Amino acid sequence: MSIFARSSIHMTKKETQEKIALGKMLPLMEAFYTIQGEGAHTGTAAYFIRIGGCDVGCHWCDVKESWNEQLHPPTLTDVIVKEAKVHANTVVITGGEPLMWSLDYLTESLRNSQIKTHIETSGAYPLSGKWDWICLSPKKTKLPLSKIYQEADELKMIVHNEHDFEFAEEQAAKTSGNCQLFLQPEWSKKELMTPKIVAYVMKNPKWKISLQTHKYLNIP
Ligand code: SF4
Repeated sequence: MSIFARSSIHMTKKETQEKIALGKMLPLMEAFYTIQGEGAHTGTAAYFIRIGGCDVGCHWCDVKESWNEQLHPPTLTDVIVKEAKVHANTVVITGGEPLMWSLDYLTESLRNSQIKTHIETSGAYPLSGKWDWICLSPKKTKLPLSKIYQEADELKMIVHNEHDFEFAEEQAAKTSGNCQLFLQPEWSKKELMTPKIVAYVMKNPKWKISLQTHKYLNIP
């Protein structure tokens, strides 16, 4: 049994629900130290915390096993932070859609341990937590709430088809002038869409290309 699973073994259902509501427990899917493969921090080491639960429903999602939060054990946030401290000084909170949960306690604990907090989110739920970096990746199926656009440090648009360029521009228009803009080919369409993204970025240089380099490197 993992250190994470052991952490909640003697808790009642009610206690667990109360702790989840306070962000003192989270449905942890996995946590691992690796290299950030995408976006502005590509190539840098970070500890990834993947939290279960997502109802955004992207048909091309590559982590569908994250969707049902019931499959991922409620785990004490203190234990998650303790493990993170062993590995890295930057943590990336991802999912699933991590903003389905209260992340105030998690980010406060990480920051108290001098760990930088990054998040990858669709923005479909209210922003909680304190962040050193917000990567917003809007999805057509459940659009971001309006407040998060101006908070985003990075906008990462997944390009699955031609219409996604138009959607990317609509979303970019809502961000602040400081937000870095990325177009990333959806993995199953990369042969078709990458050359189109290359041409688009050359015509529209406010955008940069993001590739899922971790998949090319065959790392998590
Ligand atoms: Fe998958 Fe992310 Fe879309 Fe949720 S928001 S369905 S986790 S790609």
